[in-house]
Amino acid sequence: PYVVTENCIKCKYMDCVEVCPVDCFYEGENMLVIHPDECIDCGVCEPECPAAAIKPDTEENLDQWLKLNADMAQIWPNV
Ligand code: SF4
Repeated sequence: PYVVTENCIKCKYMDCVEVCPVDCFYEGENMLVIHPDECIDCGVCEPECPAAAIKPDTEENLDQWLKLNADMAQIWPNV
């Protein structure tokens, strides 16, 4: 799946949410997250993010963000 990282914190844009075909963004405490089981890996959201906060989970050093996306997606509401 794709994963939302640090640059999303306090970002006010929701362009990613608009384009996601499966509606898998969730509203966390101070950033959006992607539900890892719902994301279909289409990649459409990545270039739409003005903060360049969305990355494929194949990138390195994303462990803490993978965990945070997975955890927050269970707790916070769907956007
Ligand atoms: Fe949604 Fe596609 Fe982005 Fe996954 S990669 S969060 S399915 S827009």
